[in-house]
Amino acid sequence: MSAATGEFDRDRAKDGGGGVVYPPASIAVIGSGQLGRMFIQAAQQMGYQAGVLSTTSETPAAQVANWTVLGPPDHLPALRALADRAEAITVEFENVSAPALRWLARRRIVRPGWRTLWISQNRHREKSFLARHGIPHAPWRPVRTDDELKTAVRELGLPLILKTSASGYDGKGQVLVDKAADAESAWKALGQTACVAEAWVEFAVELSVVVVRGRDGQSVAYPPGLNHHEKHILATTMVPAPVGPIVAQEARDAAFAVAQALDAVGVLCVEFFLTSAGRLLVNEIAPRPHNSGHLTIEAACSSQFDQQVRALCGLPLGDCALASPAAMINLLGDLWADGEPRWEQAMRADPGVKLHLYGKRTAKAGRKMGHLTVLDPDPQTALARALAARRALVRRTS
Ligand code: AMP
Repeated sequence: MSAATGEFDRDRAKDGGGGVVYPPASIAVIGSGQLGRMFIQAAQQMGYQAGVLSTTSETPAAQVANWTVLGPPDHLPALRALADRAEAITVEFENVSAPALRWLARRRIVRPGWRTLWISQNRHREKSFLARHGIPHAPWRPVRTDDELKTAVRELGLPLILKTSASGYDGKGQVLVDKAADAESAWKALGQTACVAEAWVEFAVELSVVVVRGRDGQSVAYPPGLNHHEKHILATTMVPAPVGPIVAQEARDAAFAVAQALDAVGVLCVEFFLTSAGRLLVNEIAPRPHNSGHLTIEAACSSQFDQQVRALCGLPLGDCALASPAAMINLLGDLWADGEPRWEQAMRADPGVKLHLYGKRTAKAGRKMGHLTVLDPDPQTALARALAARRALVRRTS
């Protein structure tokens, strides 16, 4: 087996098949949020029968799927039913259990493979992986005991961020530590579970690169996006990011290096901090399409979801070139606080605004309900138009 053939071929080596699945075959995704929904929509457009493993039939992905297997993602009967119906299976989130994926990979094509998920679902493993491969990232220390916590504070300095090693997302499972005296209570607040302590990075901006690696080991990547977070949740993305060609190339090269070192087959997103000194530090790896890549649906020749289907099915990868600069803005549940947002206002004011809603029945603060995308020859103008459209959605109670 050559290194270039990737993780899929190691799991499925014994079937001797080419690992290519053409439409109208049945393929599936584990996980049933908006990422699963957009994967299914892309797969259906290409003529596949697209199914989902979902906890209920009301989820964003189950609403649009050709078929649904009901059950939790690591439930053996549900996995067996999935393997009975799908020739190739992918995931929409990283916290699918590695043993469950390994079990599936002995029966069906599974991309990305369990090793990629196993690394990226745990911050300690992810940072050890980055260190092992010489990929720049923020200084960090493991925190599993009181002594390790003291060492982290002494060696990293303050402020630092304590992050749970497992199950954190959108800022959940994170506490900022400003004073040494607060370190212990911060760790207690996280349940004294295994954590990593990360040095505080005075970043200038945050960037991300969505990279796709095919079964032949070849990779393609979209231009870096500029991300703005509010309360640790992605608020807006603009592509291309207003960085020079050297930083853009370095970000893409780092994303290629991550995909190669993981030996992954599929779509990955690598998130970066860019310091004011121009240093790129990897913050996180998501082994799946990413919120910052949603604008590729309109802005690129092949969207990140088309690419997920192509990589899963062993097809040649699509073109990541941008047809236009673009901006994306998330629509969080907060917008529903005073009732249904004013859709007609946003769309009448700017007919270039593209609306995506995920079909979620209940809006909660911080919950991703949908997004808006705007294409414009000037990315800053695209962002300004997207922001204006979101403002127009707000229902003001007098
Ligand atoms: P994460 O869940 O690790 O991606 O963190 C969510 C957001 O919190 C990031 O996108 C940053 O805006 C912020 N953040 C996380 N870690 C750090 C850090 N070490 N230094 C500064 N800001 C951070």
